[in-house]
Amino acid sequence: MKPYPIYAARGEGCRLRDIDGNEYIDCINNFTSLIHGHAHPALIEAASRQLTLGSAFGLPTQSEIDLAELLASRLPAVDQLRFCNSGTEAVMMALKAARAFTGRPKIAKCEGAYHGSYDYAEVSLDPGPEAWGRNVPVSVAYARGTPDNVLADVITIPFNDAEAAVGLIREHGGELAGVLVDPMPNRAGLVPADKAYLEALRSITREVGALLIFDEVITFRLGYEGAQGLWAIEPDLTTLGKIIGGGFPVGAVAGRREFMAVFDPGHGKPALPHGGTFSANPVTMRAGLAAMELLDQAAFERLDAMGAAVRAGIDEAFQQYGVPGRTVGVGSLLKVHFADRPIRDYRSAYLTEEETRRQAIFSRGLLNRGVLAAGYGLFALSTPMTDVDVDTIVAAASDALAEVSASL
Ligand code: PMP
Repeated sequence: MKPYPIYAARGEGCRLRDIDGNEYIDCINNFTSLIHGHAHPALIEAASRQLTLGSAFGLPTQSEIDLAELLASRLPAVDQLRFCNSGTEAVMMALKAARAFTGRPKIAKCEGAYHGSYDYAEVSLDPGPEAWGRNVPVSVAYARGTPDNVLADVITIPFNDAEAAVGLIREHGGELAGVLVDPMPNRAGLVPADKAYLEALRSITREVGALLIFDEVITFRLGYEGAQGLWAIEPDLTTLGKIIGGGFPVGAVAGRREFMAVFDPGHGKPALPHGGTFSANPVTMRAGLAAMELLDQAAFERLDAMGAAVRAGIDEAFQQYGVPGRTVGVGSLLKVHFADRPIRDYRSAYLTEEETRRQAIFSRGLLNRGVLAAGYGLFALSTPMTDVDVDTIVAAASDALAEVSASL
């Protein structure tokens, strides 16, 4: 981070203090995972109580059953869950489960969508315009050294273009284990998926016999029943992470019993072995359960209202200062775009050089006014925020947009 990185010293509620003593309203919230902000007393208590009882066992504990039951009761398409330690691991296990269930090698994922750092999941994460191809996406390596075989086993589909995505999925159908989709992919612009797009993925995956996997590592914070509840579409597998750990490292792969059966050891080796020294760690489980219990319907209503107010306030400032751009997002998440065109997917969200310049002025402007948001314009709100905090965020964003305007 230029001109120098900010080191966090401590956090409390929605406020973060850095080691130089500056205070910020934290809209990064550990990249969306701290839905209750920092050091929430109920989460401290839950984690501390578990610490006095032991922090890790090579045995199951009641805590994982309690959290699994709560999550399964909220997510319409989830009967069973297995916990792990990160969203990356959750996505990896979901893709492996789809392969184990179908006996097929390939997966499909959306261009520009981030799903963690498993080789297959990070294909075509950031292709530049020179790699876009003419009509449909091609699979492009993200990391140097990605084996060609990985690229050959990933079909990159466009986000929010049902016709093209269905065409590609049908073309590779017989070899396809699963289709991985984030209903509101942050790196691809944070634009919500059209319902018709997700419905098309739902029906084509059934047609070709591939599993539909929703990556809800971020979108589970959008509503009481996650994105699958909001969009009313039931995936076969779901990945979770971030908020479900109450501020501790976490991930989960979840889904219908028939698909989760690939993990079942029964009386022998399961189709898909899944180990993990710290999986379902009881400190994480207890903090996660406390976080989820606090996150009731009323908490979501409040988060939705705050998100709507911040989006409306920033959109008004765009108008007021004559800067092209607007906010996108749903519920407690929003992103600021400096584009003068409709944003629908990764390619339309791709920043021009001039937009990158404006984004940088905006981010610096926010920081100088005590608001911490992700450098690429992402804001994640938290339950400890008050209406005064919302006003402060909007005022800082508005002043930062005035600076952008002055630079035009
Ligand atoms: N999926 C999505 C949609 C994510 O946003 C992320 C992380 N930002 C991941 C997976 C990976 O999660 P983790 O960082 O916990 O490995």
